[in-house]
Amino acid sequence: TRALLDRINKYKDLNAFITVDPERSLAQAKAADARIARGEGAALTGVPIAQKDIFCADGWLTTCGSKILSNFIAPYDATIIDKFNQAGAVCLGKTNMDEFAMGSSNETSYYGAVKNPWGTGRVPGGSSGGSAAAVAARLAPAATGTDTGGSIRQPAALTGLTGLKPSYGRVSRYGMIAFASSLDQGGPMCRSAEDCALLLNTMAGFDPRDSTSVDEPVPDYTKSLNNDIQGLRIGLPKEYFSEGLSPEVAQVVQAAIGEYKKLGAQIVEISLPNSKLAIPCYYVLAPAEASSNLSRFDGARYGYRAKDYTDLLDMYCKTRAEGFGAEVKRRIMIGTYALSAGYYDAYYLKAQQLRRLIAQDFERAFQSCDVIMGPTSPTTAFKIGEKSDDPVAMYLSDIYTISVNLAGLPGMSIPAGFAPDGLPVGLQLVGRYFDEARLLNVAHRYQ
Ligand code: GLN
Repeated sequence: TRALLDRINKYKDLNAFITVDPERSLAQAKAADARIARGEGAALTGVPIAQKDIFCADGWLTTCGSKILSNFIAPYDATIIDKFNQAGAVCLGKTNMDEFAMGSSNETSYYGAVKNPWGTGRVPGGSSGGSAAAVAARLAPAATGTDTGGSIRQPAALTGLTGLKPSYGRVSRYGMIAFASSLDQGGPMCRSAEDCALLLNTMAGFDPRDSTSVDEPVPDYTKSLNNDIQGLRIGLPKEYFSEGLSPEVAQVVQAAIGEYKKLGAQIVEISLPNSKLAIPCYYVLAPAEASSNLSRFDGARYGYRAKDYTDLLDMYCKTRAEGFGAEVKRRIMIGTYALSAGYYDAYYLKAQQLRRLIAQDFERAFQSCDVIMGPTSPTTAFKIGEKSDDPVAMYLSDIYTISVNLAGLPGMSIPAGFAPDGLPVGLQLVGRYFDEARLLNVAHRYQ
């Protein structure tokens, strides 16, 4: 823990962490040492883990990348933080992120952009960009992220990591600051599938404090990592290898799929015909849910409050005007509009119907294959500033990841190789509902 804290300090220009608290981390590390000495250690006892700043951790500043929570010390632990504490893991610090997890580049953070360790003029992806940079730069052996539309998988791809978004309902959302509640899911970001399996063993499981948590037993995900994948049917959606995909990324992804053939897998061409509708569908539903979730930040109960105001309404208005950044305001406005009387049927209801069609595409596809593969991101890490003034270009980075959240399925990104520019390329794996064990197995066989 001490060595990593030094390293975090040495590479603070990456801006991967919002908060480090050496005293707290070292106290946890000491307690872990004592536990191990008593012979009571578990797999993660004493392992330092970087936590995305979206998870409430008792006594820690928890900002969600926003000015509006820039003074918020969480008074309780999120369920996953509690589970890591029970396991004896050390909280190494809270990582930088796009404000309220809205973004694909980590540039919307109130705490500034995070730099990609593979090329510091590049973004690390987002919204879990701080977690991705921390693990990629070896500031932490593992980190947590959250994925509403790709925020674990896309930054994992852009920084050469293995990241897993579990099935919706697999990991508790209690104490994880809500963005779009029907899509949000926490998961691990690590250097390997094996590490992801270890973290998921701790993170997964039913939680009565999250009404959408699913009461299914948690298998030991490390047990099936080495299963044979002979005869595995890999579905390649033709829509994922067409227009918009960089040829360099396509080449690396195809080469990785070629390796799977050598391992005995069988390739099946599939179609996800509604793929092109995923972005418009998501960018109605996610802002709609966000506009409702973010109404709680009013300056009255906790967080930032504007200094000068005339009455209660003025206090709300000024607090929110000063406390939220531009992307968050854009989403609140889009979401409020989509939910308003007279427009609800045209936008929100339509998007809900599309969501069903997108989920059905996957159901159909999984009749002829076991795992779906394709690129995680259409390009390698882009330059800081390249898309920050063009929200539509930014939203297009989520083209391959978003439909997986809309369908509630588990998805992974694993390092596939490098593009000619030297930047990492991610291969995306999508599985059937609750089939995390198989995804981890398939990922592990490639690594
Ligand atoms: N990039 C997407 C967005 O901006 C997804 C973010 C996420 O998964 N949290 O909404």
